[in-house]
Amino acid sequence: MPGSTPTVADVGEFGVIGRLRQRFGTQGFGVVRGIGDDTAALQVTPGCLLLATTDAAVEGVHFLRTSTTPRLLGQRILAVNLSDVAAMGGIPRWALVSLSLPEDTPLHFVDELASGLEQEAKEFQVAIVGGNLARSPERLVLDLTLLGEVEADRVVYRTGARPGDRLMVTGTLGDAAAGLAILVGQAPPDIPGTSFLVSRQRLPTPRIEAGRAIARSGLATAMIDLSDGLASDVVHLVEDSHLGAVVLAEAVPLSPQIRELSTAMGRDPLDWALHGGEDYELLLTAPPERVDDLIAAVGAVGLPLTDVGEVLAAPGIWLQRPDGRREPLGAAAWQHFARQDVTGEA
Ligand SMILES: [Mg+2]
Repeated sequence: MPGSTPTVADVGEFGVIGRLRQRFGTQGFGVVRGIGDDTAALQVTPGCLLLATTDAAVEGVHFLRTSTTPRLLGQRILAVNLSDVAAMGGIPRWALVSLSLPEDTPLHFVDELASGLEQEAKEFQVAIVGGNLARSPERLVLDLTLLGEVEADRVVYRTGARPGDRLMVTGTLGDAAAGLAILVGQAPPDIPGTSFLVSRQRLPTPRIEAGRAIARSGLATAMIDLSDGLASDVVHLVEDSHLGAVVLAEAVPLSPQIRELSTAMGRDPLDWALHGGEDYELLLTAPPERVDDLIAAVGAVGLPLTDVGEVLAAPGIWLQRPDGRREPLGAAAWQHFARQDVTGEA
């Protein structure tokens, strides 16, 4: 229709691919052949392990077009994958993007989404080396695969924690969940610091530099990124080794902004910090005598690292109150098929 907003149907599959190819080019670390051949050809660094991870964003499940921008959507899908590479202590290198689009998707939406991908990829020196484009009957689906590298003798796995190890987290916890509460109208939007909390929800900062500092130090015994919430993710760090953990309530790092919002609402910020998802901070373990060096290593990249508890020999996850009382720390919060998404739908 002349004069109306051009859609992906107007330029067709090859038109859209051409635009993306032009934008992302074929340059980048180790890229022997990028977009445009049957596969990308990538030169892996000798002595390194290849890391591979993938994550999807489905319209109506993970986002609504009305509550995010296409640029943020592009940035965010890369950011959450970057967080997984950070949790291995890795260096992100290459990304493949799969887009399933309804025919009536405006072309500028795709361009903005690509801009978001491009911006985040530049910031973290990731080359976009391929992908796929498909037609979707009604909802937009965005799928991103990220490849990274890590020195084989520096990789940090989820397994490896030992009884007596300290539990540590980067940054502050609960901000993203508080931001979500504001976005879905369950918390007031007009408290100072609200925009910080909302931005922590909209676009997490992957802790690549901190992950690298931790891996290079060789001091951590296990690591994971906090996508589901501390209460849930700590289970992943200890359960395979048949260990337990205790989290000290007063040690959990909270931002001034979440404290302010909690005070205004008369609620306990620990609910968000322990059970809220999507903070994408790092949770790691190390023997007590290595804690100070780890705090210094992470501090050197500008991020706080906080000792929040201990790995226990006996199974069970506990929250210890300041008076020494221990209560079970339930991991109920953030399950994919029973959670409240950013859409506000249960
Ligand atoms: Mg993860």
